[in-house]
Amino acid sequence: MPKPLIEIRNLRKVYRLGSEKTVALDCINLDIYDGEICCLLGTSGSGKSTLLNMMAGLEKPTKGTISIDGSVITQMNEKKLAMFRQGKIGFVFQAYNLLPSMTAVENVALPLMFLGENRKSRNQKAKAILNAVGLSKHMLHKPTQMSGGQQQRVGIARAFVNTPRIVFADEPTGNLDSKTTLEVMAIIVNMARKRNQTLVIVTHDPSIARYANRVVHILDGNIQSIEENAEPYLPPEPELIDSAPEEKTKKHPRHAHPKPAGTSA
Ligand code: ADP
Repeated sequence: MPKPLIEIRNLRKVYRLGSEKTVALDCINLDIYDGEICCLLGTSGSGKSTLLNMMAGLEKPTKGTISIDGSVITQMNEKKLAMFRQGKIGFVFQAYNLLPSMTAVENVALPLMFLGENRKSRNQKAKAILNAVGLSKHMLHKPTQMSGGQQQRVGIARAFVNTPRIVFADEPTGNLDSKTTLEVMAIIVNMARKRNQTLVIVTHDPSIARYANRVVHILDGNIQSIEENAEPYLPPEPELIDSAPEEKTKKHPRHAHPKPAGTSA
């Protein structure tokens, strides 16, 4: 294994609502390695999302530290954290979290706008990655004009567009049927593997575990066990990726290609 990219030490999170106290995370110690796919698996309420949110700097722990690539993110102020997230982290959500008034291209280009890229460059990159996820014919569609699977592909494109070091995915297939789950997992896993990016997936679905190098079982806010997977499953690249060459689509984004198989999921 290469050296740890994410180092979690004695992490604890307690939520207080009035007099009610919930120990969401008790004491977590975990290393996540550069380029690995790590699956946090556990039942609902076990603390997975809390852990993921803290790794992404979206929440502060009650105790403990998280370092990413040598920087202690649990000590960063909001401004530093925002810059850190923009530069290093992509996020895929269960409910897609796309902006409803924006087209697929605009949604995907948004993180690049925060990074200060010019309009031409961000549109080019957004279109190229939408092609790669098989949405060459849906560039100008808005979220309500797309299926759940298509919206999640936009979500994946948005997470990967700025080539982040780490992509966090919180129940990325939680709202999808089993066929679409396979398609979405094939896209996200191939994208991360090809670019040697670190992918951390939170799920309650044991079938997602096979894609991971390691499966971290979470129970009641603690790590119950860690399973190593010597041969993680690498799904074949979905045909839709090959069917949308980038160059042609840039010139004729709406008409260049026949509808790729599987885009109606
Ligand atoms: P999982 O992702 O495994 O379903 P969560 O991390 O969402 O679990 O939640 C772990 C525990 O922390 C649960 O008991 C949940 O109710 C509680 N919890 C999560 N977020 C909050 C919050 N913002 N305020 C209070 N309790 C919370």
